[in-house]
Amino acid sequence: MRAFNYQRAADPSDAVQALSAIAASNNPVTEAEAQPLAGGTTLIDLMKLDVMRPRTLVDINPLAPQWSAIDLSADHLRLGAMARMADVADNADVQRNYPVIAQALQLAASQQIRNMATLGGNVLQRTRCSYFRDVSYDACNKRNPGSGCAAMQGFNRTHAVLGTSDQCIATYPGDFAQAMIALNANVEITGKAGVRNLPFDQLHKQPGRTPQIESTLQPGELISAFLIEGRWPRSVYLKARDRQSYEFALASAAVALNVEDGFVREARVALGGVATVPWRAREVEMLLKDQKFDDAIARRVGEAAFATATPRKHNAFKIELGQRVVTRALQQAATMEI
Ligand code: FAD
Ligand code: SF4
Repeated sequence: MRAFNYQRAADPSDAVQALSAIAASNNPVTEAEAQPLAGGTTLIDLMKLDVMRPRTLVDINPLAPQWSAIDLSADHLRLGAMARMADVADNADVQRNYPVIAQALQLAASQQIRNMATLGGNVLQRTRCSYFRDVSYDACNKRNPGSGCAAMQGFNRTHAVLGTSDQCIATYPGDFAQAMIALNANVEITGKAGVRNLPFDQLHKQPGRTPQIESTLQPGELISAFLIEGRWPRSVYLKARDRQSYEFALASAAVALNVEDGFVREARVALGGVATVPWRAREVEMLLKDQKFDDAIARRVGEAAFATATPRKHNAFKIELGQRVVTRALQQAATMEI
């Protein structure tokens, strides 16, 4: 591990000042000189592997008292970015009104990691592509722009089938982000110019020709909260993985439905484990709108969600797996007691 400077931010404006003064770009790329440190469960890991090499860490844990509240009001939910995953998963208001959030968090990582890790750090965690995480491989456009992609012809069983480019096929690994997409959440961002809100589905960038740039955050900006309008008790997160705990998704679906008298009035479907970014399956949501829900439509929607998938040598199985996960998540959400 390389030597680095450590700064402890006193408050949000101190953190933003410290990051903007140093950061050439706050996009979490290998070369970014300054990184905010939250739970550290991704960042310190990747620093030990020599994948991320910041010269300065700005510890934002002192911001926790201001930025970790879980506030449910009549018409919206606000989750502070420094809230720990475990606290949000265990919160009774979240479990009752937004089961998709509680389930996505509960099924992620391990209890110890959830105790430490924050929501803000969770959505900005980096891919688990083994070629990205192992610096002995030169060819990784994300870690080493312009060097090629070892996964393209290598072992790509866990890689993405949606949103890929000829530069990178790495999967976005998190779970919570899919719940945010399915709930049409906004991200509250605090920067030098003040606070701005961004639709969550505009936070992550598909790899395109610049896989090293993963988010639309500007230099010095921090995520301060997540905002959700309305309540979504009819919502589900379903995750298929190689083992039942402490494992990333091979395919997952976050579904939020509004059903009246057996008819779907509104549907939101997000996919995880299969795409380069948290994936909103917008086109299939229209297939459900104002339709009577049954198993046949759930299957049709599952299949349609993967209509544009591009499989590689080892990951074609994700298409059928993903279709089944979407179908089952819809069935669970449509029939749950609320
Ligand atoms: P940090 O490591 O502190 O930060 C991560 C990144 O985000 C850094 O680049 C940091 O600079 C940046 N950052 C942090 N906070 C902010 C902020 N407020 N604003 C802007 N930038 C910020 N996750 C899942 O979702 N599902 C899983 O199944 C899963 N399994 C795991 C298994 C293992 C073995 C491990 C080690 C991790 C696993 N994870 C999983 C990932 C884990 O959930 C993340 O590491 C964690 O959520 C990151 O949060 P953190 O607070 O520790 O972030
Ligand atoms: Fe690197 Fe992306 Fe290729 Fe993995 S898939 S080796 S992260 S460029």
